[in-house]
Parts: sequence; C-alpha cells; structure tokens
Amino acid sequence: EHSGDEHQLRIDPGEVDLDTPNIARMYDYFLGGAAHFAVDRQAAEELLAVFPGNTDWARINRAFLGRAVRELSRRGIDQFLDLGSGIPTKGNVHEIAQQHDPHARVAYVDIEPVAVSHASHLLRENSHVTVTQADIREPEAVLSAPGVAGLLDFTRPVAVLAVAVLDIIAVDDPAELVAAYQRACTPGSAFVLSHGAQLQASDVEWAGAKEVFRETTTPHPQVRTCGEIAELCAGYTLIEPGLVPSAQWRPERPVSEEEAARSNGYAAVGVLEDAR
Ligand code: SAM
Repeated sequence: EHSGDEHQLRIDPGEVDLDTPNIARMYDYFLGGAAHFAVDRQAAEELLAVFPGNTDWARINRAFLGRAVRELSRRGIDQFLDLGSGIPTKGNVHEIAQQHDPHARVAYVDIEPVAVSHASHLLRENSHVTVTQADIREPEAVLSAPGVAGLLDFTRPVAVLAVAVLDIIAVDDPAELVAAYQRACTPGSAFVLSHGAQLQASDVEWAGAKEVFRETTTPHPQVRTCGEIAELCAGYTLIEPGLVPSAQWRPERPVSEEEAARSNGYAAVGVLEDAR
C-alpha cells in the first residue's frame, strides 16, 4: 500500500505527454500504485486483456529486485546505480539498502518525467539518494551526470541495476551497453539483471502484448532466450543460483515450477572479479 505523500502525483506541468501510454506509469498501475493517467490505465487494461499474466510478471520482478538488493547489501555493497528505476513504489532500492546501512548511496536514473519528479519529491530530504532524468542508452551522459558522478564513488564497488529495462529499450547491442557501465566499475562491483522471456506466455499472448506496446513510448519490447540473456551478464561471475526464472532467484519460500514460469523472465546477480 502507498501512504501519505506517495499518493500525490508530483509532476512539472508541460513536461508530461498525457496522450501516449508510458511503461513506467503502466508498471506502477500493475503494482497497485497511484502514479498513472487515464491513457496508461487504458493501455494497461488492454495489455491485461491479451496477457492476464502481466500482473504476476510485475510483482515477481519487483520482488526479485528487493531480494537482490538485500543480498548485495548483506555482502557489503553500499552504492547502487539503478538504471530505469521507475516510479517509486513499495520496496525501493534506497529503502532496502538503507535499512541495512543508513549511509548507502543510491542514484536513480529514469527517462520518464513522472518517475523523476515523483522520486525527487519523495527523496528531497535524503542526501544519499539522487534522481537523474537521462536515457540509459547514453552511458557516458549517465555516468557523468551530477546525480551519478557526484554521488557514487566509482573507485569503490557499485552495483549497477538493469531490472526490467533492457527488454524495452531499442538498442542494437544491449551487451555492449552493459559493458559500458561495467567498464566504469571496479572489482567487487555487481550487476543486477532481470529480462523478459517467454516462459509461460503463449505466442498469442506475447503477440497481443507487443501490439499494445506499439502505441506506448517504448514500442519495441523484446523477449530474449535464456542463452541471449546470459550473454548480457557474461562479463560478471554470477552468484548462486545463477540465471534463473526471477521467482526462483533466492526465493524466501519454495517456488513451484508453475510459479517460476509465471516469472516470464530471467534474473541474475553477478559480481566483477579482480582481473588479476
Ligand atoms: N527497474 C524498475 C523495476 O524493475 O521495478 C522499473 C522497471 S519499469 C518496467 C521500466 C522503467 O525503465 C520505466 O520506469 C521506464 O521509464 C524506464 N525506461 C525506459 N526506457 C528508458 C531509457 N531509455 N532510459 C532510462 N529509463 C528508461
């Protein structure tokens, strides 16, 4: 449940396209948030009509994010670069990381103005957290942005998160994009990945979902195979249990095969080992 301020939509008027459905706001709708407009709700409902499993996908993905950040915090990581961070909702990266270490630093990056202004408002009193509006397809711009370069110390380990984002951005070589962020990181750093895959969704459901996406600001979503997703994290040493359906990544309780399939995506956490 959202509480207090989180109910308010904080946006800078004029900055927001109210006519085109947006994945950040649709995702917020699937997760039960309040930061969406009529056009987003309509597209979200159209998506659910063709692919009812989408709500499960969103919840399972978000829960994975929480477990991954908790595990990295336990391992001593206290700096996070969250690429495509979305609209703040329950279990944000900084909430989890700062539970473990109140001084943990989190740089959120998203292209969507509602996500960015909503987050900036919520985080205005948290000096260890920044929000940057940027396109993650431009790693140099992201890494040199004041909210990132001014907050994170890249001579120390940083966890880079690409959770449910590499599957919606149109980019020729996603592995090279991951590598660009990896090159900025020192040994001991980490990478958190989740990516859509057609596990339980039928061809008809996926085709229908793609149709709905065509009218959104991210018209080219892409599922990949387990092997293709593995290539995206090939530069990292994956921690147990490796690349698995998201629900099966260090679950808090046993997960059936049926529930695992409802992940409709794979997830992994990798660490950057010393090159020596
Ligand atoms: N990472 C969060 C999570 O998994 O809970 C949110 C995932 S949401 C499905 C995808 C997010 O990526 C949206 O907030 C969207 O605005 C953002 N996004 C899409 N394309 C982007 C881009 N080119 N640069 C930065 N963010 C982008």
